[in-house]
Amino acid sequence: MTFAATMLTLYPEMFPGPLGVSLAGRARDDGKWSLEVVQIRDFAIDKHRTVDDTPAGGGAGMVLRADVLGASIDHARTHNPVSPIIAMTPRGKPLTQARVRELASGPGVIILCGRFEGFDERIFAARGVEEVSIGDIVLSGGEPAAIMLLDACIRLLPGVMGAASSGTEESFEQGLLEYPHYTRPVEWEGRTIPEVLRSGDHAKIAGWRKAQSEIDTRLRRPDLWERHQGARVQSASGARHEQKEPG
Ligand code: SAM
Repeated sequence: MTFAATMLTLYPEMFPGPLGVSLAGRARDDGKWSLEVVQIRDFAIDKHRTVDDTPAGGGAGMVLRADVLGASIDHARTHNPVSPIIAMTPRGKPLTQARVRELASGPGVIILCGRFEGFDERIFAARGVEEVSIGDIVLSGGEPAAIMLLDACIRLLPGVMGAASSGTEESFEQGLLEYPHYTRPVEWEGRTIPEVLRSGDHAKIAGWRKAQSEIDTRLRRPDLWERHQGARVQSASGARHEQKEPG
């Protein structure tokens, strides 16, 4: 099945952009995902092709009109009938690898890229739009955020990544950051590759990687570490409960 991506944007020329090369570009050439780019302005209803208007209540900037957005989403729906509709917004739910995995296992995605001050609020409830943020930063438009989200999905599509394991061992997949990597030369500017990685002892290497992954997560991302610890406690107490069930 081809993962169908539909982008709604005022700047269609930004796509496929980086998604046209390397892994994502090859995957698209191989038919593993498809891209439709919709110009929101094509759904303007006046002769000036206006897509925005001043904010109700006053204030700086311009707001994307709900009627124009609604018509562009309805058009996208005719080609991409069941995919979730996502709007890139700084106040949206922060994107996680777990959500990326869910999206990648589905039929595709319709993504609304904002500009100016953003979207008329009414569009979200009216079209069942999920808001997603790529971090606590403000971009000038939703296109780079949409490209990020799509890139993260595409690499997880079946057959896109070379080594079968390379997806599941990575950062965030087990709730932890990934362990450090090294490659030749063994010594560089007086720094050497840790002895254990040269030992050939696979069990020892796995143990070292697990420990490093835990140390890095604890030091760099205490928030992730806390969640990981919480999940471990929960699954251990779940297992204890199961053991107590009469057999
Ligand atoms: N007025 C908005 C606010 O303060 O939250 C910022 C609008 S921003 C200049 C224009 C567009 O860029 C947004 O509508 C959204 O589509 C996109 N954007 C900016 N930052 C983003 C982020 N962190 N995550 C996802 N999209 C973002």
